[in-house]
Amino acid sequence: MDNCIFCKIAAKQIPAQIIYEDDDLLAFNDINPAAPIHFLIVPKKHLATLADCNASDTALLGKISLLAPKLAKELGCGYSVDTNGAPQGGFKTLFNTGPDGGQEVYHLHMHVIGGPRPWRRSLA
Ligand code: 5GP
Ligand code: ZN
Repeated sequence: MDNCIFCKIAAKQIPAQIIYEDDDLLAFNDINPAAPIHFLIVPKKHLATLADCNASDTALLGKISLLAPKLAKELGCGYSVDTNGAPQGGFKTLFNTGPDGGQEVYHLHMHVIGGPRPWRRSLA
């Protein structure tokens, strides 16, 4: 997709701090992080928004959802339950869709945001 910044990152035409890559997905740090840990998971294929996905994208969306907690844990904001059963850590996952959803880049991406609070800003 011409003039899509995340397609260009996926094609390595512009740099990003890439933290994960496989045949279908790329994850990289957000250039303007809202919190100590803030990365984006994007499909390598261009899909503009969550609303543009269909049943053929089910596996892709599942992969994105399962990658989020895995990378969050690797980067230090995983979710766990301590020996007393109390929840610990964790992160926010977010797909912004369309102007009213606050979407600025029209290439599907999941935000994964975590780390100690307070955070710099809220995307919600
Ligand atoms: P949206 O508002 O579309 O849900 O989120 C787009 C996100 O992409 C923003 O958090 C913004 O900081 C990030 N972003 C925009 N351009 C770039 C870029 O060139 N590189 C990286 N790494 N992140 C970007
Ligand atoms: Zn794109």
